[in-house]
Amino acid sequence: MFNKNQEVELLIEDLGTAGEGIGKIDGFTVFVKDTVIGDRVKVNLTKVKKNYAFARLIDVIEPSDKRVEAPCPIARACGGCQLQMMSYEEQLRYKADKVFNNIKRIGGTTDFDMRPIIGMEEPFHYRNKAQFPVGMNRDGEIIYGFYAGRTHSIIPCDSCMLGINPEGVDVNDKIMSIVKSYMEENDITAYDEESHKGLVRHVLIRIGAKTGQIMVCLVINGTRLPCSEQLVKALKNINGMTSISYNINTEKNNVILGREVVDLYGSGYIEDYIGDVKFRISALSFFQVNPEQTEKLYGKALECAGLTGNETVWDLYCGIGSISLFLAKKAKKVMGVEIIPQAIEDAKINAQINGIENAEFLVGAAEDVVPAYFENNKGAAECKPDVIVVDPPRKGCDEKLLNTVVRMAPKKLVYVSCDSATLARDIKWLEENGYKLIEATPVDMFGQSVHVECVALIVKQL
Ligand code: SAH
Repeated sequence: MFNKNQEVELLIEDLGTAGEGIGKIDGFTVFVKDTVIGDRVKVNLTKVKKNYAFARLIDVIEPSDKRVEAPCPIARACGGCQLQMMSYEEQLRYKADKVFNNIKRIGGTTDFDMRPIIGMEEPFHYRNKAQFPVGMNRDGEIIYGFYAGRTHSIIPCDSCMLGINPEGVDVNDKIMSIVKSYMEENDITAYDEESHKGLVRHVLIRIGAKTGQIMVCLVINGTRLPCSEQLVKALKNINGMTSISYNINTEKNNVILGREVVDLYGSGYIEDYIGDVKFRISALSFFQVNPEQTEKLYGKALECAGLTGNETVWDLYCGIGSISLFLAKKAKKVMGVEIIPQAIEDAKINAQINGIENAEFLVGAAEDVVPAYFENNKGAAECKPDVIVVDPPRKGCDEKLLNTVVRMAPKKLVYVSCDSATLARDIKWLEENGYKLIEATPVDMFGQSVHVECVALIVKQL
């Protein structure tokens, strides 16, 4: 019926979970990246299956009223932004729908209060962190930028529109051009994934949105960074430079950071604030990338927790204790659990520098630490908490953990999620085990991308 490389025209009527446009021709489904609902497009079929096909956009014949001109010149090629050609209003609608539909379809419920999405005031220049892959082009020149969607070919980019620009300056650009000159001048090679040869794999940059402090960390396929003093000399003059280091990652995998960080300048961390809580952030620690929206996200989580000062609370997947410290100010006792040891070290220091004495932190996988704690401390107040907050990575909570959560029987569970599909799966499990979803609030932390955060309040049924 349809063939590969065939050109067809169609109307985009829906969007998939990765932001791809979906259209139909005589009941046959076609997925087209870079399109918006309402676009009439001409496409080229790139992969044809029995009932559906993937296609590449050739031309927008009639643009949707929701389409805008993508402000970044490499928006289409770069894998970082999927929704730049969609008006921000439409992006928010898409994300809110995605959360609601996942909870309905996977979670099996519509009996809850779906709150309006909390959007960003300025959906560009919000990221406090960038990770530039470094490589070589066909002419042997060092390049850096971002991966193209679904592949690891590097799309050169020296000025990403998502990065925070302190004082209106593109610091990422400045740093990356210094790193490139340092590499060229000192014959430092770029890493090549295929041969697993070459030294510099990635450059991680973090900027404190409120403090202006900057961290640069080169991820290398080796244990030594030659002539590093040259790099330090050039970088340390940048206003705000606080930490320069390298990270050792000699593994043949897709994980960006290895386990070990070697400091070259400064003591390995920067500081920043969320609200009035000060945080110490190391290269290996997780810290939310959008500080402005993080304040709103944590505010919502705190509102859901509804603390009065007498509560015992767990904060699972706590990172450097960000949510824990907000909770601790309003609770009797907070127990934080996190798998990365450095993050827990940061969490303890963060409690100290904020004068918080009622937070305790445990290191390990939540699905191991919490069940073990529950077994070994029967009768302790911590085993009968009032509220449990969870903020897991995309894969959601382990069932072993949820089992213990239910046995601990908190009145409230506040679920902060970065993947509404796994959130919905866990909601379904919890609803089958004595809990009920009350409300869900999507929060847009990642403007221009398909990702969306969500805070859900789940309460124990009497
Ligand atoms: N609540 C924190 C961090 C959320 S990100 C914040 O808002 O900043 C999720 C965190 O879960 C990361 O810090 C990650 O290291 C941690 N993590 C991943 N798997 C885990 C597990 N099985 N048990 C505990 N923590 C885990």
